[in-house]
Amino acid sequence: MYYSSNTVAFLDGEFVPAGQATCGVYAQSLHYGYAVFEGIRAYNTPAGARIFKAEQHYERLHYSCKSIGLPLEYSVEELTRISYEVLERNHLTDAYIRPLVFAATPNMSLKAATSSNVLIAVWEWGKYLGDQLLRLTVSPYERPNPKAVPIEAKVAGHYVNSIIASSEAKGRGYDEALLLDMNGYVAEGPGANFFFERNGELFTAPAGSILRGITRNTIIDLAREAGIMVHEKFFTPEELRTASAAFMTGTAAEVIGVASVDDISFDTPFQQTIGGMLSSHYHALVTGQTVARTARVVEPQR
Ligand code: PMP
Repeated sequence: MYYSSNTVAFLDGEFVPAGQATCGVYAQSLHYGYAVFEGIRAYNTPAGARIFKAEQHYERLHYSCKSIGLPLEYSVEELTRISYEVLERNHLTDAYIRPLVFAATPNMSLKAATSSNVLIAVWEWGKYLGDQLLRLTVSPYERPNPKAVPIEAKVAGHYVNSIIASSEAKGRGYDEALLLDMNGYVAEGPGANFFFERNGELFTAPAGSILRGITRNTIIDLAREAGIMVHEKFFTPEELRTASAAFMTGTAAEVIGVASVDDISFDTPFQQTIGGMLSSHYHALVTGQTVARTARVVEPQR
């Protein structure tokens, strides 16, 4: 359950009992999937609760709003501060944080909203895809055409495709779906990015038809810090026959190994794979046991 009678959520400038954080059935967002959201995690670190990469998540929220013309009145700093306060009011340090920007105004037109509503909810959530290695299947549902709703925006409506792809895969006895892009290349899962390993190197789909996950970027940085070559390139499901291992990444899922994709299985024990090693590095980083040496050096502006 996501909330109890004691849970507090932030809604439109106030901290309210979660059960009272509601919206009407004439809301434009409800009818048209016209909302954006984020998925963020806080971890209990030696310095107390720390939200992992809060700034990047809230910058992406701003980008998502902008790309669908939904106003967002709160700055990255305000959203971060409010998130810490929601955690504190719920006495949580290890938690999932769900900000949602939506249009609650009754509006059945297809005009962009002129105002928005902001919810920030938190709850304790184990690894979204569990701890067991995943049996994936290539989905008959593709990622949406990137020339439609911007694919790098975390728009609520995109997740209808994720729901039907994931449900279809589970209906055929698999754990999760693997979606191709419109050209037949492997893109990502319904809510996580995908990597495979070959000859000690990592491969993942490039930007274009994927959500460029913050966990994906973190894993790329950690891999490069460890001297592992990472290739962002297009690949077909057939190319996975040459892979020795695979894993998925996401804020909710963290880093989770893949047992097989359809009939292709990866036999190396996960802990002995690059993904297994990076999973430990990721855990150490988010829980504040290590700091990133960060491979991506940002040059100072002149
Ligand atoms: N792809 C999709 C479609 C997602 O929903 C998510 C989860 N936000 C990801 C990838 C992973 O992104 P992140 O690492 O930023 O959570």
